[in-house]
Amino acid sequence: MTYIDVILPLPLKATFTYAVDDVMAHKVKRGCRVLVPLGNKKHYTAIVDRIHDEKPEGYEVKYAFALLEEQPVVLPQQLKLWEWIADYYMCAEGDVYHAAVPAGLKLEFKPKVETHVRLTPAFRSEDNLQHLLDNFDKRAAKQQELLLSYLQLSDFLEGNPHEVSKQDLLALHNTSANVFNALVEKGVLEAYPFVVSRLQDKTQEQTGLKPLNHNQQRALDEIKRCFAERSVCLLYGVTSSGKTEIYTHLIEETIRQGKQVLYLLPEIALTTQITDRLKKVFGSNIGIYHSKFSDPERVEIWNKQLSDEPYLIILGARSSVFLPYQQLGLVIVDEEHESSYKQQDPAPRYHARNTALMLAAMYGAKTLLGTATPSVESWYNATEAGKYGLVVLKERYKEIQLPEILPVDIKELHRKKMMSGHLSLILKEKMVEALGRKEQVILFQNRRGFAPMIECHDCGWVPKCVHCDVSLTYHKHTSQLVCHYCGYTTPVPHACPECGSMELRDRGFGTEKVEDEIKAMFPEARVVRMDLDTTRSKTAYERMIKDFEKGKTDILIGTQMVSKGLDFDHVHLVGILNADTMLNYPDFRAYERAYQLMAQVAGRAGRKGERGLVVLQTGHVDYPIINHVRKNDFETMVSEQLAERQLCRFPPYCRLVYIYIKHRDKQLTDAMTSVMTSLLVKVFGSERVNGPMQPAVARVHSLYIGMIMLKIEANASMAQARKLLLQVQRQLSQDPRYKSIQVYYDVDPV
Ligand code: ADP
Ligand code: ZN
Ligand code: ZN
Repeated sequence: MTYIDVILPLPLKATFTYAVDDVMAHKVKRGCRVLVPLGNKKHYTAIVDRIHDEKPEGYEVKYAFALLEEQPVVLPQQLKLWEWIADYYMCAEGDVYHAAVPAGLKLEFKPKVETHVRLTPAFRSEDNLQHLLDNFDKRAAKQQELLLSYLQLSDFLEGNPHEVSKQDLLALHNTSANVFNALVEKGVLEAYPFVVSRLQDKTQEQTGLKPLNHNQQRALDEIKRCFAERSVCLLYGVTSSGKTEIYTHLIEETIRQGKQVLYLLPEIALTTQITDRLKKVFGSNIGIYHSKFSDPERVEIWNKQLSDEPYLIILGARSSVFLPYQQLGLVIVDEEHESSYKQQDPAPRYHARNTALMLAAMYGAKTLLGTATPSVESWYNATEAGKYGLVVLKERYKEIQLPEILPVDIKELHRKKMMSGHLSLILKEKMVEALGRKEQVILFQNRRGFAPMIECHDCGWVPKCVHCDVSLTYHKHTSQLVCHYCGYTTPVPHACPECGSMELRDRGFGTEKVEDEIKAMFPEARVVRMDLDTTRSKTAYERMIKDFEKGKTDILIGTQMVSKGLDFDHVHLVGILNADTMLNYPDFRAYERAYQLMAQVAGRAGRKGERGLVVLQTGHVDYPIINHVRKNDFETMVSEQLAERQLCRFPPYCRLVYIYIKHRDKQLTDAMTSVMTSLLVKVFGSERVNGPMQPAVARVHSLYIGMIMLKIEANASMAQARKLLLQVQRQLSQDPRYKSIQVYYDVDPV
């Protein structure tokens, strides 16, 4: 008897075993999809992980219903990666399967079918066709026209006719379907179903590689020398030094050797400009993959990557580490410092940069991490720890200087009553000058942790979410209060529910408010706001970027989004409206992040032509980090951070695991969190356990949250730590009181 162990797309720790009949036993392979029953009514598409003949004991084994294909849709390397992710990030393999595989492969996949049109065999001979055309009835002029349209669209007379869809044919001269039907009745044309590809293959003008300048060539040579000895290299190249051009040369060499390249970007928002640049060089060799694509599109790319003609280059967001690769040779992780490479919720809470490193290692491929502001971890790995090679590129392309950074003390201005609204006089003046020179301006407002809200002027009441322990965010344009954690929405009340006062005022400092102020101040300027709310659709972001590129926008206001990888020609002035929200953020990474953000935003200024200017408004001009940003002194910033992290036992000297405990009942959540904390202290020692901690938000979706932080020294065995941790969890879940409590882990949180 043959059995298969399968992975189900469910958060289950174990694989399940099914029996297979003889026919299936003959055909089934590891990585194939099978339809299996689970429980009484449900059935699932599962992935075969192991084929064997060991009869499971202790329960009646069910049969798998059907084998969905004979060729595996998941390659052995992928299964190995899933296993690593589940193990390292402490989640179920089913969670990984669920995240990795497009939904269309978890169900039956329906190809996209169109009705196409062709001549019936009888009329495919030139003689018959000629005869037909010569003898058309005068009253059937429309039919003759339609037939000629078909010949034109299909290039029939050239031989080897193209596919013609019925829709295109009728659209050409706006012909009615009756005319078409008449030709079908006469046995001249026939309609047939045709499976079309959803993958866009717009052929674009190709330009070839740009020659590298001297500094770029030196960096490329160093990278190659580094790869001769090591598998990972960090490219620390200042903004606009031409990192993308260097990647392009490496990619070209890799695909010339017949190997594949994975080019990872932190957010899909970024791809528009880079995609266009790469398409110009590599044309149809590039496949783009990310979660804003429709599911059928993603299935087609997946299948193409399994075929004999896979894309050689995949450009994508974090989920593209899950695609099948046949011959991976190079992985590029662009903007490697970006925290959005980490998936927060749901599981698997994986870090795409670290997963990509693992993926590359499995194929013996090289990994290039690139950024203008390395993460503290990668910098440490490339210097102190000596794990990665390091290549530095300090000169901008064309040797334009990095922008001048002008800190403005807004605390002082407030004290002297010289600041109304969000703009200092100097920033306003510089904006007037820039707009006068017909330049464009970017204003950056970090909204994180400081969302606009409303407050009762008389009693201080602030509206809170009914499901979560957070205040609601005020959306002025829709006049709604919205919870950014669970999506709960409610209209703004007319009066304060606490005291009845009508004096409800908005407070806080989001992009929306800045937009209003700027529009009032510069009524002539064309102002665009770019943040999560205005870029929900796949095209909104692209449109904003294109409009800005074409000079249709004068002032672009935005959140982190405007800090990322954009390359504009006519921006010389960038304003950072308030750095303090970043500096005051209660997290050990706050300074690192603040530096990265400011340096990246600043990097948007003066990329072409003259040196740019950044006006940096802050109440903390005396903080050393402001000085580091001003001098572009990454290395001092990072060595200060490393010293602090070593002292306080934080990454990269320790690994962190956050343990989350969730339940509807607050007392139960608190009780289990304290019990678990004391058990962990017994196992790991008190210096490794911080808890119970106060999570940033103590209740979400009506669930209370308990949190414990575990610190494991970087040189200790993480596998052993995970084992002990799971033992503690098991021990606790045997207590009937805690059975219904949800426990999950965030390994290497960001
Ligand atoms: P980075 O990725 O380091 O920020 P980019 O690769 O975006 O820098 O380069 C900045 C700008 O300079 C881009 O517009 C790019 O096209 C241009 N550029 C960089 N290197 C070259 C080169 N060798 N030849 C032509 N243009 C270049
Ligand atoms: Zn009130
Ligand atoms: Zn909520």
